[in-house]
This record gives sequence, structure tokens and C-alpha cells, in this order.
Amino acid sequence: MPRPATRVSQFKILGVLNRLYVLMENAGGLVLVDQHAAHERILFEELRRRLEANQVLSQKLLLPQTLQLSPRDADWLRQNLAPLQRMGIGLEDFGAGSFKLDSVPPFLEVAEPLGLVREIIDSLQSAVASTSRLRLGEEMIAKTVCRHAVKANDRLRERELVKLLEDLLACELPYCCPHGRPTMIELSYGELERKFGRRT
Ligand SMILES: [Zn+2]
Repeated sequence: MPRPATRVSQFKILGVLNRLYVLMENAGGLVLVDQHAAHERILFEELRRRLEANQVLSQKLLLPQTLQLSPRDADWLRQNLAPLQRMGIGLEDFGAGSFKLDSVPPFLEVAEPLGLVREIIDSLQSAVASTSRLRLGEEMIAKTVCRHAVKANDRLRERELVKLLEDLLACELPYCCPHGRPTMIELSYGELERKFGRRT
């Protein structure tokens, strides 16, 4: 693992594998960054900072949308409207299981906000099913929102890759995503030499 003082200038970006893994070299060998996990970590820390400062940004939808839920889901959502609102997801209870969605966090660049909010609600519900808690902690909501905010296999330009890496290295915990998966792995020259049988 590279140490926290790691700087972007210590890496040379070689390319992107399968539109997901950023391949880089540093003095020690090969470093791979999981673009999704990295993005998740960056969003999560930013969202948490904004929550602490009470400055979560929210973006009004051009056309508010209606979410229709079963009585049980509606009940659950009602309990958690306030924390979702604080994350920038604006939902209003219209009664009889219907909710109006009128804003989403700006980092959720989605064509279909309703589907996304539905997905977030589903994952939050299954996440709490195991803990049997009705009300969710902000930390868990933030993790879930960030997981869904990460876009699928985006092709990033060199400039965007450098920015991603800079933002990641500026994080408090750059080496894992909010769910604990690694964002970065290293394959040292020593390991490569062993694999190629140059050294035992
Ligand atoms: Zn994760």
C-alpha cells in the first residue's frame, strides 16, 4: 500500500483497463485504481463534509415526479424523509403512499431520477432489514447514495483521470471505498519478478 503522503506526481498513468481499472506505474511497480471505488470514496467524503457544514447542494427537477409506494414502504420512507432531505433528496409526503420527488443532489447526474431514488430506497431497506432498525443513520444513507451516484464504466480522459487521482489522494481514507473495498492495489516489481520466475 502506498503511504498517505502519496502525491499524484509520483504516478504515471499508463492507461485504463476495461474502462474500469486505471493502470499506473510508480517507483515501486504497477498500481491499479478501481475507478468506481475511487469515485465513491471521493463523493462520500465530500457529502459527509457538506452534511457537517449543513451545505448539501440540491438540484430542483424540472418536472417533479411522483413515487408510489406500498403502505409498508411508505411508512418506512416517512420515518426517513428528514435524513434523505438533508442529503439533497427532496421528497414530500402526499398521503396514500405517494410522494413527490422534486430535487436530487447535483452529483446524481441521472436521466431517470425516480428510478434512482427507488433504487436507493430499496438498497437502504435491505441494508436495515438485517439490523431491524427503522430509522437510518446518515452515514449509511450517505454510503448508499454514493454507491448509486457512481456511473457505470465511464471512459475518462487523461485530465479527468488525473483529477480523480488527485481527489482520491486528498481523501482522509483514500485506500478504500466507504464499504471497505480497496480503491487501489499495488503489484510491486518484486512480485512481478517472482511471477515471471526471475526471482524465487
Ligand atoms: Zn463501495
